[in-house]
Amino acid sequence: MTKMIFTVAIDGPAAAGKGTISRAIAAQFGFAHLDTGLLYRAVGARVLAGDDAAKAAQNLRAEDIDRHGLRSAAVGQAASQAASLPEVRAALFDFQRSFARRPGGAILDGRDIGTVICPEAEVKLFVTASDHVRAHRRWLERVKDTPTLTEADVLAEQQARDARDSAREIAPLAPAADAVILDTTHLGLDDAIAAALQAVAAALEAPKT
Ligand code: C5P
Repeated sequence: MTKMIFTVAIDGPAAAGKGTISRAIAAQFGFAHLDTGLLYRAVGARVLAGDDAAKAAQNLRAEDIDRHGLRSAAVGQAASQAASLPEVRAALFDFQRSFARRPGGAILDGRDIGTVICPEAEVKLFVTASDHVRAHRRWLERVKDTPTLTEADVLAEQQARDARDSAREIAPLAPAADAVILDTTHLGLDDAIAAALQAVAAALEAPKT
């Protein structure tokens, strides 16, 4: 039996819950999951170590994505700066594109999956929440390891990154015209996951046109 091609594209700003929702969908349906932010973070980490951004993206290796510290705010900012360079995005395109259309189903989360990487994705979700709710969630995650971190620090870092990601000329952060918007400001995580699972289940059951 040939394995189906089925892509779930999850886009949205920082700390909206994309990762949690993606992992739940991947587990439920047995899809492969790619957190595309990690690719840009791996490039950002190499830039902070002194490498050229485009060369880092062209030569990215699996071990770059496994490096410790990729989730830090400094790496996030470096990732966002590198992500505005067309050569960086071009270098990462083919890998993401092949991943999206690999047999057996795939889920990718990022900023431009439904708009650029896989505009024909069978399911497109744009997960968002208010700035303050997102900053609060990220602060709760990080304050355990960094007790001096304030919520205002997280909010400022997040707003700078979202502004850069939304304003860049190439592949800006924006919902695809046909994306389902999932606003998690007032939605508990369980409800958000349930809504996402339902959207995927409905698309899997829908007859192919
Ligand atoms: O999702 P995450 O916060 O880990 O992404 C880090 C940065 O990588 C984002 O701020 C954004 O600049 C960039 N990114 C992107 N396109 C994607 C995924 C991430 O430009 N598909």
